Amino acid sequence: MTERSIGQINQKIDDGEANIYTAEEFKKLIKEGNVPSFDEVDVVTTGTCGVMSGTAAILNFIISEPGEFIRANEVYLNGVPAFAGPCPNEWLGSVDVILHGTSHSIYDENYGGGFLLKELLEGKEVDVRVESAEGKTIENTITMNDITRAQIVGSRMAFKNYTAFTNPNNEPVSSIFAATPLEGNLSGLTFSGCGDLNPLQNDIPHNVIKEGSKALVNGAQGYILGDGTRSSAEKPNLMISADLTKMDPYYFGGFKTGQGGEIFNTVAIPIPVLNEEIYNNLLVKDEDIDLPVADIKGRHLPLDNTNYKEMWQGNDLRPKFDKTKCSNCDSCLVEEICPTNAFKDERLNLAYCFGCGMCANFCRKGAFEMKTGDVDLNINGENVTIPIICRQSDRLRANKLSLKLKKMLENKEFIL
Ligand code: SF4
Ligand code: SF4
Repeated sequence: MTERSIGQINQKIDDGEANIYTAEEFKKLIKEGNVPSFDEVDVVTTGTCGVMSGTAAILNFIISEPGEFIRANEVYLNGVPAFAGPCPNEWLGSVDVILHGTSHSIYDENYGGGFLLKELLEGKEVDVRVESAEGKTIENTITMNDITRAQIVGSRMAFKNYTAFTNPNNEPVSSIFAATPLEGNLSGLTFSGCGDLNPLQNDIPHNVIKEGSKALVNGAQGYILGDGTRSSAEKPNLMISADLTKMDPYYFGGFKTGQGGEIFNTVAIPIPVLNEEIYNNLLVKDEDIDLPVADIKGRHLPLDNTNYKEMWQGNDLRPKFDKTKCSNCDSCLVEEICPTNAFKDERLNLAYCFGCGMCANFCRKGAFEMKTGDVDLNINGENVTIPIICRQSDRLRANKLSLKLKKMLENKEFIL
């Protein structure tokens, strides 16, 4: 088997002679019948962006002068409960906390850890309340500058095999898979997954994506700690960690669902093409990747199967908002359901937009233009066409982070 080493690839990068492709560039060449040979590709940068519920932050920050309280019992950041400890930091006026990306504010279940961490990174002020063991309440406002250490740990990131969901029942079903209850009678489909861009999809045997290898997490260099929780050969995922303070808030944040606020992340992983087996695994295309479609109620047995070409090909990654078609409804449904709060006061903020497609599918007056596609399925012996109404993965962010990683490799800011 033809082989090359990481050292040889790094030497080519040093010499400015390495051939580095993003997964999107590489797949485009495959689809055009123009794929580079093993000798013509050194690294492919893969990426994924989606709701990753297992994300938590470990934070340490100063909340008061030393000596004000002995031990924190309860800690709330903008009303979002965090777990005090494990280190108690007695009398120091600082607290260690673990904050779950999926924890909800006690005042608003649509606001949670994901939104809070993004706001902190954006430099916004956050209200903190500590209830101490001796019965004192300490309140203060902090910014990122008051945080002495902040590390993200994702217990289940970069998931590979997903299931898409539809609702064949009569009643709507509320879930984490859409910001609104999913209406019945097969009226819509919701799915996750970046298809052939996904890191694990491009390295199914984990030849290079394994414990200790590097990843770019929301723009910060991080490390793969090993398999994620509930990872299996059929449905692998990764445990990854990186420094929150070095992240770019564009790549992560909160995501509203029918069960309250969730958190999304973007992860890019380089695949050095060390041998022909690794090269051959990179040839996977969207149409090769099965996506089972299941009943949102119960979520177990697939009703039928589709693939990622049906989900992404020919569809738009972002909506266009036509203000002239907006009739200024008394209560704007889009503002209510937009998972990332990208639509407010009749303004679309594309820096916050996730490309989920909900606005185009739910605006009562058709003020949003965005093709999200539909899928032909055979369910219980009947041929049906179901519109794709919600995407919980964002290929645009996945592409952007893969491109950033490619540039970092070329500039030697990220070393294999
Ligand atoms: S639902 Fe559509 S038409 Fe109504 S206010 Fe919102 S964007 Fe405008
Ligand atoms: S696609 Fe529409 S609903 Fe989805 S995040 Fe963007 S603006 Fe919000």
